[in-house]
Amino acid sequence: MPERRMSTNLFPRLAFKSIRTRMALVFVIFTSVVLVAVIYGLLYGLPGNLFNGWQEQQKREVYDSLNLTADFKRHQLLEWIETNRKLMSIATTNRTYDYQIETLLATVQRMKQTGVTDWRVKIISDPNYNTLRYELLEMKKVFGPSHQISIVDVDGGGDIVVSSNETQVGENVSWEDFYPKMLSNTDEYLGEAHEDLRSQSPVLNFSRPVRNEDGKLIAILLLELDPSEILTPLLETGAGLGTTGEIVLVNQDRMILTYLRHSLPDGSIAVPLMYQNPGIPAMHAANGENGITEAKDYRGVMVLAAYRFIDVTPEWGWGLVVKKDLAEVYAPVQRSIFFSIAMGVTSILLIILVTIYLSSSLTKPLLEVSQAAQKYTEGDLGVRIDASGNDEVGLLAKSFNSMAARLQDWYGEMEQRVKSRTEEITAVNEQLKTEIEQRKRIEGELRETRDYLENLLKYANAPIIVWDAENRITRFNRAFEHLSGRNAADVLGSSIDQIFPSGQQAHMHTLLQNAGRGERWESVEIPIHHVDGSARIVLWNSATIFSNNGVIPLGTIAQGLDITERKKAEEIQAQLSHELAEKNDELEQIVYVTSHDLRSPLVNIQGFSKELDMSIKDISQAMDVDGFPPSVLDKVLPIIQKEIPQALGYIQTSTIKMDSLISGLLKLSRLGRAVLNIVPLDMDELIRNVLYALEYQIKVDGIQINVEKLPVCLGDAVLINQVFTNLVDNAIKYLQPGRAGVISITGRKANRNRDGEHIPQGKDYVVYCVQDNGIGIAAAHLAKIFEIFHRLDPQGTFGEGLGLTIVRHTLDRQQGRIWVESLPGEGSKFFVALPHGNNS
Ligand code: ADP
Repeated sequence: MPERRMSTNLFPRLAFKSIRTRMALVFVIFTSVVLVAVIYGLLYGLPGNLFNGWQEQQKREVYDSLNLTADFKRHQLLEWIETNRKLMSIATTNRTYDYQIETLLATVQRMKQTGVTDWRVKIISDPNYNTLRYELLEMKKVFGPSHQISIVDVDGGGDIVVSSNETQVGENVSWEDFYPKMLSNTDEYLGEAHEDLRSQSPVLNFSRPVRNEDGKLIAILLLELDPSEILTPLLETGAGLGTTGEIVLVNQDRMILTYLRHSLPDGSIAVPLMYQNPGIPAMHAANGENGITEAKDYRGVMVLAAYRFIDVTPEWGWGLVVKKDLAEVYAPVQRSIFFSIAMGVTSILLIILVTIYLSSSLTKPLLEVSQAAQKYTEGDLGVRIDASGNDEVGLLAKSFNSMAARLQDWYGEMEQRVKSRTEEITAVNEQLKTEIEQRKRIEGELRETRDYLENLLKYANAPIIVWDAENRITRFNRAFEHLSGRNAADVLGSSIDQIFPSGQQAHMHTLLQNAGRGERWESVEIPIHHVDGSARIVLWNSATIFSNNGVIPLGTIAQGLDITERKKAEEIQAQLSHELAEKNDELEQIVYVTSHDLRSPLVNIQGFSKELDMSIKDISQAMDVDGFPPSVLDKVLPIIQKEIPQALGYIQTSTIKMDSLISGLLKLSRLGRAVLNIVPLDMDELIRNVLYALEYQIKVDGIQINVEKLPVCLGDAVLINQVFTNLVDNAIKYLQPGRAGVISITGRKANRNRDGEHIPQGKDYVVYCVQDNGIGIAAAHLAKIFEIFHRLDPQGTFGEGLGLTIVRHTLDRQQGRIWVESLPGEGSKFFVALPHGNNS
């Protein structure tokens, strides 16, 4: 917009840009060119000989006219000479005056012979003289006033006897050219113009012989002409040759024959026969040439001249030049040029005025439109133009108005759109700002995280290594340095192969390839070669890092766990376990053998103590019967009747106890030997069987039994039956006296959060619970109740303190576990964990 406004503002300044000026310029240039072309064409002609132009035309016209004049004058001159010749011929061939001539000549002859010296005076009175003179004067009338015509006496030696000019009578002309010619029998003689010595003026003479009947030459008829007087009117140019045109006649010596029209350059007047014409045209003419030329004349002025040679007689001729000053020849052309230029300039001025008027009237409405448009561009959207006209400008105005209206609408709409768009953009900007801030914060956090991770990586206890797709090490943390005995600076960028023992490298390549394809190492055991030559056993986890598109592997990160020591410990542990198992077997063997072997002495003790008891009873009866002295009786009877039976009672109790202990030991030792039959167990049925076996006791004690639906587990049916029989039996045994007994049996899947510490890793387990509301177990004893022969209240209930020991042993063999939770006075919960039935 600002640019456009600028150009609009420039508009008036660059006036030549306005339509008006341009129109005027175009018109003026166009018409000027046309006018110049027309004028040029008119003056100098058109190409292709269509038109030769005024100048050429003018020249040609003048050429033609000069040629015509020259030819005409030449013809006239020749005609004149011919006429004179004919007249002379007529005059001399006329026999009418032969008598008078002969008579007069005879009279003169006579007078001369008689010595009459003034015969010139006397002859005038002679009638023949007068007749002839009259006749000559009549003839002279024909030739003109400047002529003199005379009769020359041949016999008298060339004296003029009669003349139209009486002063000539008696003059001797025999020295003149014609005279010898006539005497030599020439019929006619026309003499070249020359200065007449008598009159000291140029003269041209014609002469013809006058012969008598016999043909004898008796006299010469001499016609003397003043050429200038005769030729001047003949060569009169009239108006045809303008102000500078002239006809010049020269003899073959280029001596002028007539007076010149112009004075000579020095201002003098050239005298005929006295002035030799130096002009070029005269030279051509005197040389006998005919033609026309542009050349300098006698004055040195450029003339256009037609020149002719007039062959007056075969012996001599004249040069005729008809010429006109070039300046005058071209004067009309120059006038035409001037007039044309004046016309052209006037026309151009008129065209400028008309153009300005026309363009003003045309551009005024356009200017209004443009001003309106400028106002419009300056923001006045309501501007409209008078569109009343029906011409093109009216149409333009209408179009402008409708366009302006549409633009105004559109502008409004645009403004609205811009507003809403601006609001949107502002909102987006705000959002972007927030996002940028967020991003910055995230970047900061990322940086922190990266630094943190960097440090973590660097200082982590776990050895961490990263390698790229070409298996070059790109990261190597401190722990790894420690693990391998190498410096990060030494290994970074070099092949990862070096950290593996040489024997392992082929295998490692496969592993590395798989890792590079994205396969994860999960606790893969890979040895690491330490610089000291030892190998460290490391448990590896790896992850492959891919490019953003998730296709190109960039590298692999792996974290190791040095389990070299653990491995060693495990080996030792395995060794120990093995030894322990052997010892256990040995012990079980000893227990078995011992308990078995103890049995027979015990049976002996039991047997003999019974026998002893019976013997004592016998002794006691005997002493009553036989009447032992009272002093003896007082001493012996208490021993026999009280102390011994009491001691025997202790012995028997002890043996019973010992028996049960030995039975228990045997049972325990047998447990280790029994062959297990692990199968999925239907625990609902198993518990039903257990309860069935204890039904009598349950009923007697009025105990409430709650059994839930139980999950399946894996175990040996007989042994698991024993486990639960023992637990339910204990629950019944250790109920709180005076409180209605409630025993619940439940089962569920093991929960690592809840049962975690008791459940072995790697398998699914189910957990059963036998809960009672009995006397409970003090916390201090909880751990001890599973120990062999451990009883909390040995006197209370019947038992050997072996049940839970066996239970735990049994469960151990089946990968089962047992633990207890209890509160004294409230009851106990015995938990049994067994592998889940679906583990099989
Ligand atoms: P016995 O029951 O033969 O004494 P056990 O090995 O079965 O031997 O039990 C060991 C001891 O654990 C018991 O003497 C008893 O004190 C305690 N006990 C076992 N079960 C329970 C129970 N449900 N409530 C309270 N105490 C119990």
